[in-house]
Amino acid sequence: MIQISALPAFTDNYIWLLQDHRTQRCAVVDPGDAAPVLAWLEAHPGWVLSDILITHHHHDHVGGVERLKAASGAKVYGPASESIPARDVALKDNDSVSVLGWDFAVYAVPGHTLGHIAYYHHGLLFCGDTLFAAGCGRLFEGTPEQMYHSLSRLAALPEDTLVYCTHEYTLSNLKFAAAVEPGNPNVTARLEKVTQQRQNGVMTLPSTIALEKLTNPFLRTAETLVTQKVDERAGAQNRAPSEVFAALRAWKDKF
Ligand code: ZN
Ligand code: FE
Repeated sequence: MIQISALPAFTDNYIWLLQDHRTQRCAVVDPGDAAPVLAWLEAHPGWVLSDILITHHHHDHVGGVERLKAASGAKVYGPASESIPARDVALKDNDSVSVLGWDFAVYAVPGHTLGHIAYYHHGLLFCGDTLFAAGCGRLFEGTPEQMYHSLSRLAALPEDTLVYCTHEYTLSNLKFAAAVEPGNPNVTARLEKVTQQRQNGVMTLPSTIALEKLTNPFLRTAETLVTQKVDERAGAQNRAPSEVFAALRAWKDKF
């Protein structure tokens, strides 16, 4: 049994901590800062950091890698096509890695960055800055088409898959979702719930693929009301879903 918890970093990052209680070994995903992980290790004597999983090269995801590896000797996994500090294992699409005795499938999910990868193990998804709760990452390197296909691939995972993304952006994402689909009761209910959670300082993650399909506008580009909303703003066209996605992403960038 592996326990998953969040170590907050910077203003809105989460470093996911995976603990194997049988062996007292643990792993972290996207440690942008070493300090929260080192503090946790110090507070939990006997635990060994054995693995570091990286989704993409941005500093808020890799900033702590070198210090953590130097302190623990942990093995560093990251995308083959990006420059990742101290990487030991270079991963590409459809590779599989064993971490804490669990097999993770590696999916290439370009869009936010070109080499971005996600890690999937039966019902658990670590997707970095690709799929967010009620939103998606900005297109810093990839095209809307690439991101659309990456998100479609993640959306095809089992509905009960837990989505562990890296940022607490859920509330602002849901405000945008409500602007796109003012009549979507699932968005309204989730916005209400998440507003409460954030007022109480509660984390809104993980999400699930099922909930994302109901409330995330970027996974709902085939919905008539979403297409209509985009047409209303940008002029009616017969847009393909990837073009609806592109229009939504451009709108969100200025929202
Ligand atoms: Zn990023
Ligand atoms: Fe990030």
